[in-house]
Amino acid sequence: MKKRVYSGIRATGRLHLGNYYGAVKGMLALQDTYDCIFAVVDSHTITVPYDPATLQASIREIILDYLAAGLDPEKCKLEIQSRVPQHTELAYYLSTIYPVARLEDLPTYKEKKAQYPKYVNMGLLFYPVLMAADILLYKAELVPVGIDQEPHLEVAREVARKFNSMFGQTFPEPVRFKTSGEYVPSLAGTGKMSKSVEGSFINLTDDLETIKQRLAKVPTDSGLLGGQIPQEGGVANLFKLCYLLGGSDLHQKYVQDYKEKRIRYSELKNELAEVIYKELNPFQQRRKEFENNPKMVDEILEKSNAECRDLAEITMQEVREKMGLR
Ligand code: ADP
Repeated sequence: MKKRVYSGIRATGRLHLGNYYGAVKGMLALQDTYDCIFAVVDSHTITVPYDPATLQASIREIILDYLAAGLDPEKCKLEIQSRVPQHTELAYYLSTIYPVARLEDLPTYKEKKAQYPKYVNMGLLFYPVLMAADILLYKAELVPVGIDQEPHLEVAREVARKFNSMFGQTFPEPVRFKTSGEYVPSLAGTGKMSKSVEGSFINLTDDLETIKQRLAKVPTDSGLLGGQIPQEGGVANLFKLCYLLGGSDLHQKYVQDYKEKRIRYSELKNELAEVIYKELNPFQQRRKEFENNPKMVDEILEKSNAECRDLAEITMQEVREKMGLR
């Protein structure tokens, strides 16, 4: 049997370069070889402030992004998490074997608490348990996600181990599938590129002008410092993006300019914008085709989600039985 792969992205906005390099590129690399399920995790989406009136549209945007990026419904299943209710059922069962204190200690929970101090809800704390359930529901062994998700994957492995030791061998311990862009830095200078941090991202649907405008806001220095490239901040992140998108040639060219105190950031930003746009243009063309064919997208989702529910039910029957619930 082929190894199972699972990964999901929240419907909190359009996909950006971080999601693309950290997660979607991994999905693309795996879909030819493995049995893959890629999701829009809408139940995770509602753990931060959101608008119910636009949630369905946001979910659709991610599905269109997935299809345009090259996820092929002939090769992988596209899931919308809440259409497979077994995710939340399994998450509840798994929550009964996992300590609260460990969840309170996770960095992502602490970050979200600081970001939305008036919205610290149970779902936010529960997030890693639901994520463990997402993966274990399909007994997935490989998970293509960015490095920020590593602590959550550790939780998934702990949950699997605990369940196996209490109720008998059931779940494999999932590992992360790493890509070269496992951490795409923020345009704002600190932290990672993120949908929920304004000014941090470049969307896959951005046109050249928008990309230029976003890069123009990246904080830089006088250009007269010379020496080693900084490790943190706007300049450091520009260099990281040059390497990721343009390879070592583009990177080296500006490293040399920096060292020789003759770097012109406007030139770097313009060239980087062109490189990014060139990478995104084929994606944007393909996206239009899917946008213009909503019926086909609906059919893909109907079929995929029905198949996912059947697969999920197989695991749930085993889990209910092992836990003495049937
Ligand atoms: P966001 O933080 O932008 O809302 P999600 O939390 O929905 O993104 O994450 C979706 C996927 O994209 C996950 O696999 C995550 O690890 C990956 N990802 C998000 N941001 C980045 C980034 N800046 N660099 C690399 N991968 C990222």
